Amino acid sequence: MNKHQLRTVCAPIILALVLVGLLTVSVLAAPSDDRLLARWAIAIHGGAGSLLPGLDRVRRDSLEQSLRQALQAGTKILSTGGSALDAVETVVVMLEDDPQFNAGKGAVFTRAGTHELDASIMDGARLRCGGVAGIRFQKNPIKVARLVMEHTPHVLLAGEGADAFASEQRQERVAQDYFYTNRRFRELQKALAEMGEKPLEKPAYPLPVDSRTDIPGEDGPSGTVGCVALDSRGNLAAATSTGGLTGKLPGRVGDTPICGAGTYANNENCAVSCTGKGEQFIRNSIAARVAVLMDERGFNVDESVSYCLNEILEPGDGGIIAVDRQGRISMRATTGAMPRGVADSAGRLETAIGIDH
Ligand code: ASP
Repeated sequence: MNKHQLRTVCAPIILALVLVGLLTVSVLAAPSDDRLLARWAIAIHGGAGSLLPGLDRVRRDSLEQSLRQALQAGTKILSTGGSALDAVETVVVMLEDDPQFNAGKGAVFTRAGTHELDASIMDGARLRCGGVAGIRFQKNPIKVARLVMEHTPHVLLAGEGADAFASEQRQERVAQDYFYTNRRFRELQKALAEMGEKPLEKPAYPLPVDSRTDIPGEDGPSGTVGCVALDSRGNLAAATSTGGLTGKLPGRVGDTPICGAGTYANNENCAVSCTGKGEQFIRNSIAARVAVLMDERGFNVDESVSYCLNEILEPGDGGIIAVDRQGRISMRATTGAMPRGVADSAGRLETAIGIDH
C-alpha cells in the first residue's frame, strides 16, 4: 500500500475515532437528563385527614411501609419502560388491598352500614378516562374503572350496572363483608352519634369471622388513595379510589369517580389526584382546574395546586397531588395530615404523613 492509499484508508477511520471521542467527552460532561429533569416520576397519597396527636410508632411505621411498597411497585414499572397508566393502576390496586386505607378492603361505611366504592383513572396521552361510582361487590374498583375506559364508549358506570359490567369482565367479585374493618365500624358509630342518629348494632351484613382482629396501623390518618405518574415516553396518568365519606347517604357520589373533579390528566400540563370533601372538589372542578391554571395563567404545577387549595377551596377541605410533564411534583393539603410519597428516576424515594402549615 503506497502513502496515498494509506491516507485514503486511514483518514475516515481517524475522523470517526475523533468524532466518537468528542461525543463521549460531551456526553460525560453534559448534565444527564436525570439531573435536569426526571425521566419518570410517581407520587401517591393515602387520603387527607387529621394527624392524631397519639399516632404511635407502630401505626406510623405500618403506614409508611405500605406507602414505600406501593411506590416501589410503581417504580419497578416506570424504571423498566412501563406506562404511567399501568403504574397508577398497579399502585392503587395495592393500596385498595391494604385495609389501612379507605379504598377497597377497609372502605368506610354508609349510614346504612353498607359499603359503596368510587374510583377513576385517566390517561393524559389521549384524554381517555373511566370511573365507577357506588360499586358494591368488586375487590378492586380501580381495575373496573380502567375497563370502563378501555372497553366501553362511556366514562362512568354507577351502582348495579357497574357491578354487572365488572362481572361480565370477569373481575374478582367479593361479598360486602370483605370490606369490613373494626376501625371503620367504630368511625361509623361515632359519625352516627354526631349526626344524632341511632347507633347500628352491626353492619347491614353478618359480621365476618375476622371481625375481632384489629389490623396493625389501621387507626392511622389514612383514607382515600391516589397516584399520579409520568412515564419515560412523556405520558401522564392519574388514578384515585375511595369508599367515600363515613356515614354518607346510600347513593351519594363524591369527586373520586369523576374525571375533572377528583382525578385528571393531560400530557400538556399535569396529572392530578385529589382527596378531601368531595362535594367541594366537584363544585370547583378542582382536578381539571390545576391543569387549566397552568395553561391559562402560566402557573407551575406547585403554584397551581397551592392556588386551588388556598384560594378556591376552604381551609381543611383536603389535599392534592400532581406531577407535570417534566416530572416536577406537588403534594399539598390543608388538613393536618396526608400520607404521601414520591419516587423518580433521579433516585428520590420519600414518604411523609404530617403536613406543616
Ligand atoms: N374525596 C372523597 C369523597 O368525597 C373522600 C376523601 O378523599 O377522603 O368521596
